[in-house]
Formats: sequence, C-alpha cells, structure tokens
Amino acid sequence: MSRGTEIPDVLTADVLTADVLAGASAYDVVVVGFGIAGGCAALEAARAGARVLLLERAAVHGGTSSMSGGHFYLGGGTAVQQATGHEDSPEEMYKYLVAVSKEPEHDKIRAYCEGSVEHFGWLEALGFEFERSYYPEKAVIQPGTEGLMYTGNEKVWPYQDQARPAPRGHKVPVPGDTEGTKMVMDLLRARVEEAGVEVRYETGATNLVVSGEGAVVGLAWKSFDETGYVAAGAVVIAAGGFVMNPDMVAAYTPRLAEKPFTLGSTYDDGLGIRLGASVGAELKHMDEPFITAPFYPPAALITGFVVNQHGERFCNEDGYHSRTSQFVMEQPDSAAYLIVDSEHVEYPKFPLVPLIDGFETITELEDALGLPAGSVVKTLERYNELADAGEDVDFHKAPEWLAPQRIGPWAVFDLRLGKAMYAGFTLGGIRVTVDGEAQRPDGSVVPGLYAAGACASNLAQDGKGYCSGTQLGEGSFFGRRAGRHAARVSSAGR
Ligand SMILES: Cc1cc2nc3c(=O)[nH]c(=O)nc-3n(C[C@H](O)[C@H](O)[C@H](O)COP(=O)(O)OP(=O)(O)OC[C@H]3O[C@@H](n4cnc5c(N)ncnc54)[C@H](O)[C@@H]3O)c2cc1C
Repeated sequence: MSRGTEIPDVLTADVLTADVLAGASAYDVVVVGFGIAGGCAALEAARAGARVLLLERAAVHGGTSSMSGGHFYLGGGTAVQQATGHEDSPEEMYKYLVAVSKEPEHDKIRAYCEGSVEHFGWLEALGFEFERSYYPEKAVIQPGTEGLMYTGNEKVWPYQDQARPAPRGHKVPVPGDTEGTKMVMDLLRARVEEAGVEVRYETGATNLVVSGEGAVVGLAWKSFDETGYVAAGAVVIAAGGFVMNPDMVAAYTPRLAEKPFTLGSTYDDGLGIRLGASVGAELKHMDEPFITAPFYPPAALITGFVVNQHGERFCNEDGYHSRTSQFVMEQPDSAAYLIVDSEHVEYPKFPLVPLIDGFETITELEDALGLPAGSVVKTLERYNELADAGEDVDFHKAPEWLAPQRIGPWAVFDLRLGKAMYAGFTLGGIRVTVDGEAQRPDGSVVPGLYAAGACASNLAQDGKGYCSGTQLGEGSFFGRRAGRHAARVSSAGR
C-alpha cells in the first residue's frame, strides 16, 4: 500500500516503444481496478467490441466492493418496488437526490434516475435476483434476504415534502453484511471473463502516459519486481477511494483521521485519484467523508433525544444514521449523548454506541456528564411538550418517533467521537462528466482519461445526504457509462 500524498510522475509517449505499440500490449481500453466500477466498465467496453485489459493490484477481484453491505440504491419503479407496492418514478427519485445533494449535478442525477430500472435489469442479468420483498423496519441493513428497504432520508424532514418517499435500498439476496456483494462480484468476474476481457491480477498501474497533445495514451504497471507499459486508446481509473491512506485522510478529511474506524480494503490508498491529478484532473469533494455510528436498531431508541454538550438538541433524531452522525460531528468537540427513558430503552443491536449509565434524575445525569445545570431539564421539558402535542416544531422529527420521555431512570448512550465507534470512508475524487470523462478545473476533459466509482466524484457527496447503496449504485451505473464511452472514443480513434 502506498502512503503519502505525492502525485505520480507523468510519462511521455516515447516509453511506448514499437514493441508495445505492435499489438500485444496495445488495447482499446485499459481499466484500472476490479471492484464494482472497474468490472462494470470493463464488461461494457468489451461488450461494445473493445479490446480490454483490466489491471488489478490485488491477487483477487472485488476490492472494497466485495466487503460491502450489498445495498444498491435503485428506483423509479423497479420490479421489487412494484412487487412490494411502492410507487416510485424517475422524477420523484430525481427530486429526492437533488434535494439531498450539496451541489447537485443535474445531468448525472437525471441519467441515474432515468436509467435506474434498466440498470436494475442489467445487474440482475449478471446472474442473480433481488428478492421481491420488503423489510419495513428502521434498520441499517436488513438482517435477512428482503430485497428492499429505506436506506436514506426519504421519509425524514425536510425531504419528505420535497419528493414522494419511496424505499430504494435494494439488497442482494444473501443474509448478513458482506457475502452478498461478494456474490455479485463473483458473477461479474464470470461475465467479464466470458466477454473476453484480459485480466491481470497482482498488477498495479503506477503512472499514466500522455501524448504530446496531453491525451492519456497508456500507462505503466508494476507486478512484484516486473514493470512494463501498455498503450491504450483510453484508460478508465476505477481504483477505489483513499480511506486507507493516512496521509491523504489527514490532508483532506481530518475528522476521519481523528478516531474513526476506517472502512476499506488495502488498496484504498488514493493512488487512482493521484493518477488523475497527475494529468491535471480536478479533485472534488475531497473533504467529505461518510462517517457513522448508528444507534439503531432497535428503532425504539429513536424515540429518545440527542443533546450536545450544552444540553441542547440540534437535529431531528430520526434521520438516516449517517445524517445524525454528521450533525454530531458539527457539534462542539463532536460530542453528543442520546437520552432515553426506562419505558423506551433497549440495548443497541450493534455495540457501536456505548451505554454510559442509567441515571435516577436528570440533575444527576447533568452532573455526571458535566452538562450545564438545568440544561437537560429544560430540553426534556420542551421535548415532552412537543411529543405530547405530536409535532416537533423545533427539529421536525416525524410524529412516528415522538414519545414523551418521563419515566426514569434515564439511559445515556455515548455518541462522542472517540467513544462511539464511528466508521467511515471517503466520498471525494476525480471530477467527471456524466460519461465518466475526467475533467480539468475549467471543465474541459482530459482526453483518453475516465474515472468511476469511489475514486470519482459523483452523486454521494457528503454524509448528511448519503443514502446507503449510492456507492455501489453509482459505481456500477457510471462505470458502465465510462466503459461504453471509452470504447466508443477509442474505436473512433483507431
Ligand atoms: C463495510 C462496508 C460496507 C459498505 N456497504 C455499502 C453498501 O451496502 N452499499 C454501497 O453502495 N456502498 C457500500 N460501501 C461502500 C462501497 O463498498 C464502496 O464505495 C465501493 O465498493 C467502491 O467501489 P469501487 O469499484 O470504486 O472500488 P473497489 O471495490 O475498492 O475497487 C477498486 C479496486 O482497485 C484496485 N486498485 C487500487 N489501486 C490500483 C492500481 N493502482 N492498479 C490496479 N488496481 C488498483 C483495488 O485493489 C480494488 O480491487 C461499503 C463499504 C464498506 C467498507
């Protein structure tokens, strides 16, 4: 794994000797990284008739995709949504994704929503079926094989009024956390091999090669002690994020560097992103991490209230877990506590948010936590007043989750950064067009260079708006588009 923030050298085209160009090492499209984005890019490029080489630095395909939870954010009327009676349309999905995006890229969101049903079918055609069933609980991931659940803030203020809510978290039909996407990656590998893509494992791209005109025309690779070059009509970088590179994390997303547990695989070291930067591509949203420490399930805990170290509420507690976590990060010292009375308290299903203690009185609780005297008393009074009225006019928590908290003892769960187990990964990367073409700061494209997946900057821009499934969803969707576009451009240049 490489650390550091250094930008790899750019090589000039004279390294592509006559031998390299003669054929054996010349490809229409070279894809860097065999995760979901790279696999989809390579497959579509090959299906479009391109001669494709796929380089993977690890000994196996899969990357972080193979470790992930298996949610794909899809909608607009998929077969699972229809079979489970959830009305949705590309327009409603578009409105929602625009609403949760910090800087919405309308053309990408539009393409993603309008192409979502087709993409759902394309994913299933890899060789599996999303179960036509729905998991109704508020959860991080469905424990079973149900094909659909809410994995975002669709029903949460202020979004519930901006787009008609629909569940869009489609999970592959394997129970548990990680085996599902591994199955998809194995199927993707089978389809990639059938399509005639040449795959080289334990081979990492190290530098890009550019022509005199500034177009990317190949790359240098390394496999153990061996090095070499390939010529390419186009290069698609799909080499993952940078959460495993402590220097890049410290430089770009210091919150992730502080205490959280990093979620990623060995080669999420940002080399792909730095390769893009080496030829002048702009990097976007590099300071945005996804950070989360879910306190639900059980959903009963959501009826409690969260205070900062002033003893004050600061958000609607029914937000998707990474939204609430992001609000916590913004509080003084990233400190917050979840308080739940004895009528509603249950133990968290995942031991991520520790129980500090149960307190007989709120005064005792304020004292023990070092919160200003009377602050939580006041907050609790107000919270109970709102809960009794059935409307949270202060923070707009949905009535479904409002319940007066009156019966002591009161349990306090620790949401402080460094105490709760926050986990995260990075969201920023190479600026790209809707077809995955890498862009410079002025918006012009770097000819011959594409990026997709976690090393590109796409829809998921920050933890507050993040919906589980957008990473796999957009990595596969825009990976496909990048592969097709690269194949087209490359064949036009032949
Ligand atoms: C525990 C966990 C759960 C998650 N759950 C979900 C979920 O349910 N839904 C969701 O949408 N997202 C989820 N995510 C996020 C999601 O998994 C990733 O964002 C996504 O898989 C990234 O896909 P990718 O193809 O861009 O990268 P990867 O899958 O990481 O693939 C990149 C590949 O590039 C290779 N590589 C790196 N550098 C080079 C190089 N120089 N040359 C050649 N190869 C190289 C790597 O070895 C790797 O195989 C989860 C993440 C984690 C860690």
